[in-house]
Formats: sequence, C-alpha cells, structure tokens
Amino acid sequence: MSAPGYPIGILAELTHRCPLQCPYCSNPAKLLKANTELDTQNWLRVFNEAADLGILQVHLSGGEPTLRPDLEEIVSALSARGVYTNLITAGVNVKQERIAALKDRGLDHVQLSVQGATPEVTELIGNMKGAHEKKLETARGVREAGLPLTLNAPIHRHNIHQVEDFINLALELDADRLEIANVQYYGWALINRTQLMPAWDDVMAQVDLVEAAREELRGRLLIDFVTPDYYAKFPKPCMGGWARDAFMITPDGTAMPCHAAHTIPHLVFDNVKDKHLAEIWDSSPAFEAYRGTDWMKEPCRSCDRREQDYGGCRCQAMAIAGDAAATDPACSLSPLHETMLTIAGQTQSKEAPADDFTYRRIGVNA
Ligand code: SF4
Ligand code: SF4
Repeated sequence: MSAPGYPIGILAELTHRCPLQCPYCSNPAKLLKANTELDTQNWLRVFNEAADLGILQVHLSGGEPTLRPDLEEIVSALSARGVYTNLITAGVNVKQERIAALKDRGLDHVQLSVQGATPEVTELIGNMKGAHEKKLETARGVREAGLPLTLNAPIHRHNIHQVEDFINLALELDADRLEIANVQYYGWALINRTQLMPAWDDVMAQVDLVEAAREELRGRLLIDFVTPDYYAKFPKPCMGGWARDAFMITPDGTAMPCHAAHTIPHLVFDNVKDKHLAEIWDSSPAFEAYRGTDWMKEPCRSCDRREQDYGGCRCQAMAIAGDAAATDPACSLSPLHETMLTIAGQTQSKEAPADDFTYRRIGVNA
C-alpha cells in the first residue's frame, strides 16, 4: 500500500549514549556506539528534508540527546523551519544555563523521564547515585526557563506503588503533563520481564487511582495513561498505525516505522544517508510491510476495529506469536491472548530480586 499521506512527526534518536541504565529502555538490546552516529551536517540535512515533507514536530531523543554538543544547532535549524521541538531527556547532566540556551534557540517543550518518585527507586532503576536530585534540578530549570514540562514515568513492579507519589511530584514541580506509561515488553524490558512485570492487583489499583486523579486534577494537570498491554482487552493503535503519520530515525540514520521495529528480523530498513526522507516514507520496504490493513490475517481482517487499532503492535505480535502479521496477543480476540495472560501470571508470581536486572549498557548484548 502506498503512503496514506504525509507524516507529521519524527522521533529522532540522536545517540544511544546515556548516563542511566534503565532495565526497560526502549533502545535496542544491541546499542549503537558513538562512532556510528550521524554527524551534524547529516542531521541538519535530514531535518531540512523533514521540514520540506511537512513534518510538524520532532522529538529529540536518545539515549540522552543532551550528550550531543550540536543539540543547540539542531534546535535552531528546526525552529527556523517552524518545526515544534520536544527534548526528551533523563535530566541528569543538563545545567540550567543550557536549558535556557536551548530555549533561546527555539526549543518548545521538555519531557523529563522519572524512574522513581524517591531517590531510592530512581537510583535502583537508573543505576546512578544522585540521579533523583539532578532530575529535580532539571525540572525546576525547565520551569524557570519558561518551558512547558512533561514528566514521563514508566511503570513496573518496582514503582507501581508510587503512582500517587508521581502525581504529587508532578504537581510539586509545576509540570503541565504527566505520562503514567506502563512498560511495554520488548527490547530491554523483554530481557527484564520477570523482574519488571507488576502483579494484577497492583495494576487494578493503579488504574482506579489514575482515573480518580484525572478527574480531580482536570484543568490543573493533564495525566496521560498508557495501560498495560498484558492486561488489556483490545490493543492500542501502536504508533497510530504502522507508518501512518510518524516514524523514527536511529543514531546511525536507520529509518524505522517504530522504535522496536528492529525486533522483526525479516524487515529491511533504509538509511537517511542513502535516500531522501520523502522516498523512504513513500516506498521503504519496512514501511510498506504493515501499512494500512491489506496485510492483516484473521481475526483482524474482518474485524470492525481494524481501522481503529490497526491490529495493535507488530513487535508484540512478533515477540509472543513469532509472526509480526499476527493479531497482537494483547487483543482478547487473538488465539494467543490466553498465552499472554499466562506469561503475565507466571512472570509476576516469581519473586525476582531487585538487583537481578540486566541493566542497559552498550556492549552487554552486542
Ligand atoms: S530509558 Fe533510561 S537508559 Fe534508556 S534512554 Fe531513557 S533514561 Fe536512558
Ligand atoms: S482482532 Fe485485530 S482489529 Fe480486531 S480488535 Fe483485535 S487487534 Fe484490533
């Protein structure tokens, strides 16, 4: 199927380097080293092509994007083309002056990841001493610079009891938005699934708590809630549908329909060093593979919801069904839905010790 229209957003992973080592990191298990990263000129060319293509927003991510000394140059170039820029940072190595400088260059928004609502949990998950206080300083710096702030809290067994604390932290830090995002189990999170999967009762309690808080704080704090796939009835429309309106670029220039697409072994990806973004968007084999609905098998093929959720997540279908064209097992209509619930039940019942994580590090799974 040809492209349904023009894309509106790009997630740009400027680097895989990061001071933290979260065991659920969405970066691939085989992380890219610094010497493979696109240079400044290539990134600027790609973002120019993106603006020509009509891209409205670029999420500058990583790893930790502030480790790139050319971040200011990139933000300036995007801002000059009228593209909205969102900096996604762990916030442990950014000084107030740099935040203010990025604001001056045209940065529009900061999304700060929070691993825990207390120093102990932040340090356990990020595997870095003193990380919590640095994050709080960054959050304050963002607000002092007059930038909008979103906190992103990936939720799992070791912090699911802190959901209320995350909400209070967001209020205390004057955040505009809080994302309570239950961890998705692929990549590093799949490696650490046994250690991370929360218990059913905790998930249910969390859903009730978040729903009540959303009502109570309406107009004061926007709370986005990504429900846990393993407990869902129907799947989410992953990426809003495969190659439908957004895509991502890895540090070495590989263009993928979503950040976990590398887990589907037969896909062939184009690189922005070799092709113009417009050509990649229109005809890259990986983008074409699951675009639209023609590729679907039953039960998706004849399902009324097929243009609402696009069959869910291809990477999750690959991880659980071993077939990226299968119905996402998060769907209650999938023949593998029970298997998925069984996996959740089995993993959560094991008392995995907290220090048993395989922390995300370059070279661990290379
Ligand atoms: S999830 Fe953690 S390790 Fe991965 S990029 Fe974000 S802060 Fe770094
Ligand atoms: S069968 Fe497919 S299209 Fe229907 S709800 Fe499930 S995942 Fe969505």
